[in-house]
Amino acid sequence: MNRFSRIFPKINPSSLRVRLTIGIAVFSALGLGGLTTWTGWKMQQLLINSHKENMEQIASRLPLDVEVYSQMLPFTTALEKAISNRETNNTLLWITNTNNTLLAKSSNFNPSSDTYANELINLTKMPLVPEVYHIKGHSYVLCGGELKIRGKVLGKVSIAQDITRDQAMFVAMIQSMGIATILVIILISGGIAFYVSYSLQPLRQISRMTEAVQAEDLGEARLYLNNAPSEVKELAQTVNMMLSRLADAWEKERQFTSNISHELRTSLTIVHGYLQSILRRQQNLTEIQKEALLTAASEAERTIHILQDLLDLARADSGYLQLSKEPCILDDIVTEIVSMAQQNSSREITIEIENNPITIKADSNRIKQILLNLIDNAVKYSDPDTPINVNLHQIKNQVIIQICDKGYGIPLQNQSHIFERFYRVDTARTHSNGTGLGLSIAKTLVEKMGGSISVRSKLGEGSVFTVSLPC
Ligand code: ADP
Repeated sequence: MNRFSRIFPKINPSSLRVRLTIGIAVFSALGLGGLTTWTGWKMQQLLINSHKENMEQIASRLPLDVEVYSQMLPFTTALEKAISNRETNNTLLWITNTNNTLLAKSSNFNPSSDTYANELINLTKMPLVPEVYHIKGHSYVLCGGELKIRGKVLGKVSIAQDITRDQAMFVAMIQSMGIATILVIILISGGIAFYVSYSLQPLRQISRMTEAVQAEDLGEARLYLNNAPSEVKELAQTVNMMLSRLADAWEKERQFTSNISHELRTSLTIVHGYLQSILRRQQNLTEIQKEALLTAASEAERTIHILQDLLDLARADSGYLQLSKEPCILDDIVTEIVSMAQQNSSREITIEIENNPITIKADSNRIKQILLNLIDNAVKYSDPDTPINVNLHQIKNQVIIQICDKGYGIPLQNQSHIFERFYRVDTARTHSNGTGLGLSIAKTLVEKMGGSISVRSKLGEGSVFTVSLPC
């Protein structure tokens, strides 16, 4: 588990939902972010241009004012009068001669006391591009023009407009726009996540439906989707076609297993019968012949059992496995099977049974088959000197039968597979020659009776198989 999954356990970064959401959210963020940046830049340009236009107008009018006033007043007074007409709180004006000596200035412009005023004057000594200058925390738009009177250049008119307040307002507005953009992106991402999740629902539906399909119901299993997009419906159709092909193949395999098991079992039963009858009349046989016949008979019997198991499984798959429902006293069945197993294996098997006899309606032969399989396994997969215990009790409307051994145990990774057909665990360790069918038969039979079977096991410590049947 990586760090991301630890922090967001329900979010799978490789899921289509997360990828689509992130992809669309990133593109929306880029789009909205770009739009906001462009709008901000454009507004700044508009603001500066309007100031520039205003100042250029002043710069072009001022020489005309000076010309008019100089006809009535001395030249320096005319300059001061023209400046005082145009000055405002935010607009600073000053006029210098061709040697850059200050001739006149607006009253709020004091180069002797204000350091920023000196810097402004220094800036105007060079050819001036009308734009924003930042001086000591203040922003100025600076522009200038020639002081030309009656065709003669007498100096230079410089105008500075303090736009610090406008700039502050503009920055505040850009910040609000930024916050609004972020909020919109979050809202859009939430909406997209919801919409993507809603759109992917049919895919999840397909996954849930296919997950629930078991080998036994392949024939009827079909995916039905309402209101799904056409692409997903197409996918469902393809899956349905695949399911029906699988059902055909499964049916053929089941038929084949059933037919071949039936044929082989019949002939082997005859062979086994002949071997038994020869063995019964063994007077004329040598020891070697007797031993060979005994081996052949026991192998034939083992193979008949395997074929019987295969036949049972094939019948269960096709729904033809008939189980009777007669009242049976479980205490008696358990005692009978345990004593049978004890005789066959000469193992000490203890029984724990509750006082009251437990009766259920079920197929007693099949229950015996289940118990024999489980006890046989407990004997096979444990050392001869370890105990085996069979436990029978009732909890509410369930009968619980437990077969406990202190044997080799089953590794955790194999426990979920041992009820599968032909599945065997590490045969080299246990030295047994099983088929891997016993537990799958037991599971099939228990489930046909409406019960369940489970295992709890620890490697080197033993296993407990629990069969629970409805009363
Ligand atoms: P098998 O014919 O191999 O015994 P089963 O279906 O009965 O087939 O069992 C499947 C596998 O489960 C066995 O190969 C064995 O490894 C494991 N197993 C079953 N019962 C036990 C048990 N009581 N203790 C340890 N392992 C067991």
